[in-house]
Amino acid sequence: MSDLPFLAHRETYRRLDQMRLAGRLPHGLIFLGPEGVGKRLVARHLAKALLCEKESEAPCGACRSCQQAATDQHPDLWSLEPEGGRIKIDAIRELKKSLNLPPLVSKLRVVLIAEAHALNAAAANALLKTLEEPPPATYFLLASHAAGWVPRTILSRCQKVRFSPLPDSALAEILRAQGKALDPSRLRLAHGSARLALLLSEAPEEWPDLERLWGEAEPLGLDEAYALGQSLNEAERLTPYLESLLLESHRRLCAEASPERRFALLTFAERILEFRREMRQNANPKLHLPRLLMFFKEPLESRL
Ligand SMILES: [Zn+2]
Repeated sequence: MSDLPFLAHRETYRRLDQMRLAGRLPHGLIFLGPEGVGKRLVARHLAKALLCEKESEAPCGACRSCQQAATDQHPDLWSLEPEGGRIKIDAIRELKKSLNLPPLVSKLRVVLIAEAHALNAAAANALLKTLEEPPPATYFLLASHAAGWVPRTILSRCQKVRFSPLPDSALAEILRAQGKALDPSRLRLAHGSARLALLLSEAPEEWPDLERLWGEAEPLGLDEAYALGQSLNEAERLTPYLESLLLESHRRLCAEASPERRFALLTFAERILEFRREMRQNANPKLHLPRLLMFFKEPLESRL
């Protein structure tokens, strides 16, 4: 198990692997936790172990099954990915057709749905019966960073496995392995997400530390906010910052007791979401970013 995101999930994986070896692994599992912490990697690793020709010390990485799984060519490994943001009923129908037949090369079959929140209502309904009474030797490994969007009926039929944010030390190690680095203050802004840490490590140097946007120590000046807006050519590069801001608002919201300040934080989160929508519709970040940044300039209490 050399994949780095496993560093923080070693214990979780060990428990799952023990259940696999003892033949007690539930046929429906859902991995829940923040985005970018390694849920998909752990699910794929477990899928490979289930399909591997060896039983102990699986996945061996060497057998035909492991090699096919590594290149996404394994005929008994189904991976349902959203198309246009949703997993639709046609994909489930196609899957169900194959479930009527025995596995093709392995003793069992694995269905991976890494973004279970993308199942639309019809697809979820179609999948439900299969999850309730899975065909023999079929395992469903689902994952989601948005548990609230996963149909409740699906959630209730899977055993839940919780994934926590990665500690900063694990993030630093993941970055190091890819020849990247982030100073500790920026690393903290990844909020335990390896994906976000990697995105932040590629963010433009000229961007100020996000800590400053919260205006506690050395607030960002208005001129600086405008200059920053002007320096951006691609809205795309803003994504990791907006995500960090949202996560930070959420973190503060959870810790905040005062109703007024909670309302202010919610308003702020809404502004970020609105800004993100505008950027997706190809709005010009040079015009819109200063407006968002100016919002930081106001003391929190007056952001109502
Ligand atoms: Zn193998």
